[in-house]
Amino acid sequence: MVSRARRLAAQLRDLRNAAAAFPDALVLLDADGRVRWVNRAATRLLGLAWPRDRGVLLSERLHEGALGEWLRSGEARAEDIDAPIDAGIRINARWIAFGRDQRVLRVRDVSELARLEQVRRDFVANVSHELRTPLTVIHGYLELLDPQEVPALAPVLGEMRVQSRRMGQIVEDLLTLSRLEMQQHLPEEHVPMAATLSSIHKEALALSQGRHRITFEDNAQCDLRGSAKDLHSAFSNLVSNAVRYTPSGGEIKIRWQRTPEGAEYSVTDTGYGIPAEHLARLTERFYRVSSSRSRATGGTGLGLSIVKHVLNLHHARLVIDSEPGKGSTFTCRFDAARLLDPGVENA
Ligand code: ADP
Repeated sequence: MVSRARRLAAQLRDLRNAAAAFPDALVLLDADGRVRWVNRAATRLLGLAWPRDRGVLLSERLHEGALGEWLRSGEARAEDIDAPIDAGIRINARWIAFGRDQRVLRVRDVSELARLEQVRRDFVANVSHELRTPLTVIHGYLELLDPQEVPALAPVLGEMRVQSRRMGQIVEDLLTLSRLEMQQHLPEEHVPMAATLSSIHKEALALSQGRHRITFEDNAQCDLRGSAKDLHSAFSNLVSNAVRYTPSGGEIKIRWQRTPEGAEYSVTDTGYGIPAEHLARLTERFYRVSSSRSRATGGTGLGLSIVKHVLNLHHARLVIDSEPGKGSTFTCRFDAARLLDPGVENA
């Protein structure tokens, strides 16, 4: 009997020692949100100490800064925010529920990952920026050369122009992505949807050049709050994809409609469709289902990445439904908090 109790006690001690030495901060809470126990990493990452902080209300003890804001928000996770005691440390935080009404707060130091991510972003931004000037020069000279003066080189010149334009577009798209990634806050503009959709509709007609039946529905009767330029670019990317990945004779529907949660912008096509195994990776940079088809239609492989970033900045989501051989629907879902009444400027 005694030895069993001792064994259990030893097991318990081992478990607690293991949790105490865990590299992530762990904060065990009771049903009222009071601290029951914290491990050693909680001192370094959160400034909490055991046994000093036993019984304190976590929301009061950590009420400041980004972590305090997240604790009040009730959201399940926070990513890449400042640690409360040292803004040089970046953390991820999440709630883990267990037992009855008990929760553990787990906080991980992601400073090194955040630093590497920054190095990657800076590198891409710098490379794109450095490429821009030489490309402009090459492009300029190519435009100056008249193929009629050297007919033998006409096909070569034509191809060089196409490729230099393509490289220019890739560089511009990479710079747009860099800007979106570095952007913390959105302009809070009133984005008039009727005007935006009408310009998207015109673009669709111009891109398709009569090869598709393009229909258009605006039932939402509401506007958006955010960046007019970026939203226009995201919406127009989806239309350009629908045109490029739908053979002649197909149909493209552009819709702006209300939903129980807010409103959604969707583009449906009757094109090639996308096999299910590709869907999850479609918004990665340069990810393509078919490289040859993307290139042949003038794609940079960056369009959907741009769409995803723009939507993230607007707290909106991209949903993709597709069936190979039948077609695809790309939907941008906006929360009610993003919507404005039409015509209410600067609301
Ligand atoms: P791209 O410039 O190659 O079109 P995107 O990022 O816009 O790059 O799209 C990534 C890939 O997703 C495309 O290469 C294509 O394979 C696929 N895709 C995007 N939109 C559609 C669509 N409407 N129908 C079929 N496939 C699509």
